[in-house]
Amino acid sequence: MNQDTDQTSASERDAIKEISDLKRALDESAIVAMTDQTGRITYVNDKFCDIAKYSREELIGQDHRIINSGFHPPEFIRSIWTTIANGKIWRGELRNKAKDGSIYWVDTTIVPFLDDERKPFQYVAIRYEVTERKLAEERIRQQASLLDKTQDAILVCDLNFQILYWNKSAERIYGFTAEETFGRLVSDMLCGGDGQYLRQAKDSLAAHDEWNSETRHLRRDGESISIESRWTLVRDDKGEPDYYLIALTDITEQKRTEEHLLRAQRMESIGTLAGGIAHDLNNILSPVMMAVDMLMMNGPDDDAKRWLSMIKENAERGADLIKQVLTFARGMDGERVQVRLKHIIKDLVGVLSETVSRSISVKYDVDPELWTISADPTQIHQVLMNVCLNARDAMPSGGTLSIKAENIVVDENYARMNIDANQGGHVRITITDTGSGMTKEVLERIFDPFFTTKEFGKGTGLGLATTMTIVKSHGGFINVYSEPRKGTRFDIYFPSVETPSERDAAPSETEMPTGNGELILVVDDEESIRMAAKATLERFGYQVETAIDGTDALAVYTQSDARIDLVMTDLAMPYMDGTSLIRALKKIDPNIKIAAMSGLLSEGQTVELKELGVEAFLSKPYTAKSLLNLIHGLLTPQ
Ligand code: ADP
Ligand code: MG
Repeated sequence: MNQDTDQTSASERDAIKEISDLKRALDESAIVAMTDQTGRITYVNDKFCDIAKYSREELIGQDHRIINSGFHPPEFIRSIWTTIANGKIWRGELRNKAKDGSIYWVDTTIVPFLDDERKPFQYVAIRYEVTERKLAEERIRQQASLLDKTQDAILVCDLNFQILYWNKSAERIYGFTAEETFGRLVSDMLCGGDGQYLRQAKDSLAAHDEWNSETRHLRRDGESISIESRWTLVRDDKGEPDYYLIALTDITEQKRTEEHLLRAQRMESIGTLAGGIAHDLNNILSPVMMAVDMLMMNGPDDDAKRWLSMIKENAERGADLIKQVLTFARGMDGERVQVRLKHIIKDLVGVLSETVSRSISVKYDVDPELWTISADPTQIHQVLMNVCLNARDAMPSGGTLSIKAENIVVDENYARMNIDANQGGHVRITITDTGSGMTKEVLERIFDPFFTTKEFGKGTGLGLATTMTIVKSHGGFINVYSEPRKGTRFDIYFPSVETPSERDAAPSETEMPTGNGELILVVDDEESIRMAAKATLERFGYQVETAIDGTDALAVYTQSDARIDLVMTDLAMPYMDGTSLIRALKKIDPNIKIAAMSGLLSEGQTVELKELGVEAFLSKPYTAKSLLNLIHGLLTPQ
């Protein structure tokens, strides 16, 4: 017992000697303070007084909080105390306040000195000032956060073109996170390792210190995007090359609009050209047809008669074709009358049932209260015929052709999904087939004049071009949904004459069901659809996250800590489609609520999705009302 006390006091003596040695050693360079176990200051060196701007007398006996209260969260301060009270050394950076209110940062090491019961009786804080470095760091952080706010992708690369910095917009545009790109070769991240691109950049940077270009880059998901890039070599104070700064602007959308315009112009010039030729051809064919008539009257023999009727038949076919070209080329200035589509559709169905092969069943469904439209009936007939004949051609081995006509009020939400759409009352004619469907590439060109995939003599490529001209000249618009082997749906909209009655019009905002801050994840590869759904849902009391495909959606979902109440997903998306996404989500959470939206949904597909646990379907495009009703219905417990 006695021995123990002796030993302890010896160790305490050693400790005290150690402390004073330490103090002396540090006095010149460091800022030193000591406190007792309660945190009361027992010693400060001159440096401490200098930086804290207090005199020694003012500090001794004060609580340590005189210089560092209020800057750090209480948990942080508590963790320091827990560490040192347990006899462990703490090291970190602290923000302190001097007597005049100025702020300084100190790199601090707190060493506890322990008594015989291994309890600290004294703390020594050794500190170095790091204010300048801290302020610089803060500045850099602020600048970096500014860089994160710009729309452009901003990159910094070292002289070997390895990425040092990758801002938030770069993450958004290219789909790689900053961590993934750090140290990687810039061309690997921007354009799938295209060496040619990097060589061009190098050559130009070597010659001019900068390089501007417009190129196509590759996103992580393989999609190609149009990018305008500006590369600059940044030199240090001494003029030596230091790093490369790269700013990239995504101009994909802009390019697309340009292409759209170009295509419209191309169509116009083809139209003018075709119109001219058609006119001449008419003048050439007219005498041929008249001559045939004359010869017929001269009493030809049977053989000559056969030849003559063949000439006549073909000349008439040519004339029909020319008529089509002319309608397309002239734009439409046909006579307008009030048209009840019901009758036109009945006629059409009659003709179709007689002409299409028996293996195709023709169905129709017309709202008896269909609004009237102002139109040229012959042209409308032509439009519907063109679309139906294409549907027939797409089903050589049979299928179903259905025609549906109904009233619809196009609201703001809806109009946002289609550039050509106007708000207001419309009659919509939907023509669906279960035929071959189309690839994206074909779909993009179907309205181009003379575009056809049909064999020579079977297609002119004028049907849909004419259809589009007619519909546009009536103030209407067309939506097409199609997928290879899954069939095609044409939605043709004509503005109605009547202004829809109160009952049919878009209900006022107060009548719409609203949300309660529920979080909805909207997944669609088309930006306009994401934006429209987000705007509407947010306006009606929901919170919205969006994702551009299945993989993105899974990432958003897992990051949300299961806070997402409902997932609304498109079905046809690149990279990971809706069905795979639904499967994956159901695996993570079998109870998750899912609504599927699609332009084209076959019955088989609906059944399959229902089996996967999809609770509701929405066909695109949709009105705010149908969207809100569907979501409200799903989120309200029955
Ligand atoms: P054409 O019928 O003379 O080929 P259109 O302008 O009517 O010209 O159609 C252009 C092309 O659009 C067709 O050749 C075809 O490839 C495609 N298409 C149109 N409608 C359908 C459909 N319902 N299913 C599949 N492909 C279609
Ligand atoms: Mg056609």
